[in-house]
Amino acid sequence: MSAAHPLGDLRLKRYPMFMCLQNRPCLVVGAGKVALRKAESLLESGAQLTIIAPELDSDLANTLKQYPNQAAWQQREFQDTDIAGHYLIIAATNNRAVNAHIAELANQRQIPVNVVDNQAACSFIVPSVVDRSPVMIAVSTGGASPVLARQLRMKLETMIPSSCGQLAAITEEYRDQVKQRFAEPEQRKQFWEQTLRGPFAELVYAGNVSAARQMLDEMLAKQSSETTIGEVYLVGAGPGDPDLLTFRAVRLMQQADVIVYDRLVAKSILEMASQTAERIYVGKEKAKHAVPQESINALLVRLAKQGKRVLRLKGGDPFIFGRGGEEIETLAENGVPFQVVPGITAASGCASYAGIPLTHRDYAQSCTFATGHLKNGTIDLDWEKLAQPRQTVVFYMGLTGIEVISRELIKHGTPSDMPAALIEQGTTRNQRVHIGTLATLPELVKQRSVRAPTLTIVGEVVKLHEKLHWYQPERHVAASEFSRNPEPQE
Ligand code: SAH
Repeated sequence: MSAAHPLGDLRLKRYPMFMCLQNRPCLVVGAGKVALRKAESLLESGAQLTIIAPELDSDLANTLKQYPNQAAWQQREFQDTDIAGHYLIIAATNNRAVNAHIAELANQRQIPVNVVDNQAACSFIVPSVVDRSPVMIAVSTGGASPVLARQLRMKLETMIPSSCGQLAAITEEYRDQVKQRFAEPEQRKQFWEQTLRGPFAELVYAGNVSAARQMLDEMLAKQSSETTIGEVYLVGAGPGDPDLLTFRAVRLMQQADVIVYDRLVAKSILEMASQTAERIYVGKEKAKHAVPQESINALLVRLAKQGKRVLRLKGGDPFIFGRGGEEIETLAENGVPFQVVPGITAASGCASYAGIPLTHRDYAQSCTFATGHLKNGTIDLDWEKLAQPRQTVVFYMGLTGIEVISRELIKHGTPSDMPAALIEQGTTRNQRVHIGTLATLPELVKQRSVRAPTLTIVGEVVKLHEKLHWYQPERHVAASEFSRNPEPQE
């Protein structure tokens, strides 16, 4: 806004309000694409809409048909007398002078008016909105930067769950009941504060509305002294780059009371969790052993039973070589509510960031995810099947077993010069991609001192790396991006 603008010195450039237009006569002058957008929201707000224009845009005609009792088109030019009797007017013709004239007339009669091509003539502006009806968030920069308003709106769009409106609607249904249950306004406020932050809201966000209602019913039936059980969120943190987290993962990380994580969670991801959350590390440390799986399962149950919102954060996707299934089995057996948030698994993340399309159709018809975990010096896999041509095989945890993988595949018929890649700390700033062949893999690991976490990809698709690699991070630090320097052995 220029300094000369009459609104320039006001602290509040616009008075924010939400107007009820149900059954109120409103006028849109003009019937092109811009008028269409305005007409649509007026109609959705229940306005009685008159449109004045010599010609009607075909999309607008279709919209009007959907509201036969609410909308009328008068096929003619605007006349000064059209102003009367309207609560709100939008000047959206393609003629700037006509629009300015309409604004002047409306202002004389003190009718709110918006002019689509002339900020200064508007008595009100239509903000960028995040629509989660009945929840609405309006963004305005007071005309200073419509692009900034749009960017802020997009940010809010991504932060606010899409079912936030549904949450508000259910809350409204229960308002009277809550009023009866809690006589004091302060008690009611406390009840809602807890409820809207806790598992009830998460159930709604996860789409399980009937369970959410049931939970609310139970909460209302309970005596206040009874403690509520917490919840466990089993969340996939993706392979390392924090940008690859899901919106849901971020939201839950910010509201959890406790975060239980292991070595596969990148440091930069952990930093995004709520600063007040307690953190419990259950991964392997150099000489020590990892916390046994049963103890982790029991820990999750214990924390949830203390009423805490527990976030179990796992690298990649919790259901892919993550033992996430076992953890929630124990929760289910103990009646602890939980939800699972998928993450980008290492195979997808590393392959994308290394420019290796896992199923490029010139080279592969299928892709197998296998574990290369060594048990008593061997890997128990169907080598015959994995050695079949025209497929890609991805090995998780394949570093210590790399010699076995190389030897067994060659023994079962994979050509020893089959292209193969090792992707170390994939998707992080420390990503390194080592390309070789099935036969050279073990040597490559030694030569380059490749460390965990590393993913192994075997197949013709690896050839594409040369042409398609795009991610070239500036190597950050010599140290690992992962929460504890993981052992070379996985
Ligand atoms: N649940 C995880 C996998 C756990 S198994 C997922 O879905 O990704 C652990 C193995 O995953 C590691 O040994 C390694 O092979 C692979 N891995 C996980 N993150 C990785 C990363 N950022 N770069 C390379 N490999 C990774």
